[in-house]
Amino acid sequence: MEQTEIKIGFVRTGNIMTKSSAPLGGYSVNPYVGCPHACRYCYASFMKRFTGHTEDWGAFMDVKEWPAITDPGKYAGQKVIVGTVTDGYNPLEEKFGRTRLLLEQLKDSGAEILICTKSDLVLRDLDLLLEINGRNRLTVSWSVNTLDEAFKNDMDAAVSIERRLAAMKRVYEAGIRTVCFISPVFPGITDIEAIFERAKDQCDLVWLENLNLRGGFKAGIMGYIAQKRPELLPLYEEIYNKRDRSCFEALEKKAEEMAKRHGCRFVDNETPYERVPQGHPTIVDYFYHEEVRGTGNSGVRNKR
Ligand code: SF4
Repeated sequence: MEQTEIKIGFVRTGNIMTKSSAPLGGYSVNPYVGCPHACRYCYASFMKRFTGHTEDWGAFMDVKEWPAITDPGKYAGQKVIVGTVTDGYNPLEEKFGRTRLLLEQLKDSGAEILICTKSDLVLRDLDLLLEINGRNRLTVSWSVNTLDEAFKNDMDAAVSIERRLAAMKRVYEAGIRTVCFISPVFPGITDIEAIFERAKDQCDLVWLENLNLRGGFKAGIMGYIAQKRPELLPLYEEIYNKRDRSCFEALEKKAEEMAKRHGCRFVDNETPYERVPQGHPTIVDYFYHEEVRGTGNSGVRNKR
């Protein structure tokens, strides 16, 4: 997917730290509004309706300005997730540096900071990340849901999978906890085992999350499958129109068996804070996101 021209604006917000309703809980921090990666399955694209923008999701971005965080200690021990509805390391971060500014403001907070990205721009800040890692709990997560760059290019305008994996390796080798976030898992397309094999020696955690098509992008993804992978259309109709869970249940089983084979822990809706022996990342089942929302990573799932 080509990166389109981005309309850039500026917005002022009273407080950059927002309480999160995501499964991980804590605070969500998004230094930008909008996201140039323009993923076709973006669950955050609903945000557009609150922004007044008429451009497509991915074609606008507002740079946030906020009062400096003067009491960072207030977030000690709290989870702070950077990049829940934008990628803080989107290409425009190179120019505007808002994510770096935010991390500078939080570096002595004692917060448990998680950075979610699809970029390798994070390497620009490796010095700062190492400093943060010395004083706080820090984790950096890359979304990787395919090793097929052509499929990736059909889905998003972020950097290649190879660049993401190379960045993950450097950050891991620098001594910072990393996550390979296999998300969203596309039935019949995402090969979780191949991705696991590729990433297992450079991450502490592997998170698994299914493709959720409840958003306004459902028609676009179903249209893509009909056009590019018509043999998968009956499966997608079963899952997304008839709510058949057997495909994802089979994948959960497969992930559990894979964990066993590789001597990895397999947990449901937990994010243990630990470094693990190389090659044995903990595999975390986050399938059916809606069942774990608000559970604070307690290992409990609100089964439907
Ligand atoms: S990187 Fe995340 S926030 Fe950005 S477009 Fe993709 S899914 Fe949406």
